[in-house]
Amino acid sequence: MSYQDLAVHTFTTKPWSIDECIEGYARRGIGGISIWRETVEGEDLCSVARQVKDAGIKGISLVRGGFFTGKTEKERFDALEENRQAIREAEILDLPSLVLVCGATVGQTPRENYEQIRDGIGALADEARNHGVRLLVEPLHPIYAGDRSGISSLKVANDLCEELNHENVGIALDVYHVWWEMDLGEQIERCADGGWLDAYHICDFKPDQSDILLDRGIMGEGCVDLVGIDRMMGEAGFDGLREVEIFSSKWWERDQGEFLDEILSSFDQIYRD
Ligand code: ZN
Repeated sequence: MSYQDLAVHTFTTKPWSIDECIEGYARRGIGGISIWRETVEGEDLCSVARQVKDAGIKGISLVRGGFFTGKTEKERFDALEENRQAIREAEILDLPSLVLVCGATVGQTPRENYEQIRDGIGALADEARNHGVRLLVEPLHPIYAGDRSGISSLKVANDLCEELNHENVGIALDVYHVWWEMDLGEQIERCADGGWLDAYHICDFKPDQSDILLDRGIMGEGCVDLVGIDRMMGEAGFDGLREVEIFSSKWWERDQGEFLDEILSSFDQIYRD
């Protein structure tokens, strides 16, 4: 079976080195890869880019930049510098986009967080374009609104893209974060109509998860209407790859090849039946 329409985030197989990821994905016919900065820390990025290309895998995103908020100007300035570095890394890795976990600072209001995020992305959007890297806002589930992201729904992410009105800013939609939104179909359409529906992350949301960060489910293990959301994405005209992004300390203790095979078999069941 071919998995050319499927990509995997390297953080999904966290125990693997970048070499093992590229080899393990290519061997299974997986079509795309999104690379986490953690996975390539200390690596020669030019040679990683070459390896990905030689393996016939499509590079999608570098994950992740963002974290634009901060109580002081210095913190916010440092965040911009860190994002500039990530943009350069994406360019070297030949990845056309950088996913942003936008940030939130404890003690700030949602509005303050939003405005700092807007200003941060606004300050970088031209520069990123000059490097050939699109900036993708990933709305996060509101449980992370305190300290990880002030962009807590697809609606707010759409509002942000509309306000920024920059051709180099788009959205990465992750089912884990937005599955619960009542107006999801409408917001996906709005996103596509605006021309900023760029990326699509899949996994599952287990209602009984034991950890709010590291217990994501394989597709089918949780309560997300994956088929319904996939239909909405298709109807909106999204034709990119579905990217598997699962953080699971439970699965990281197991053999990563078995984990990937499990992911592929649930992918077959849900998306090909
Ligand atoms: Zn994601």
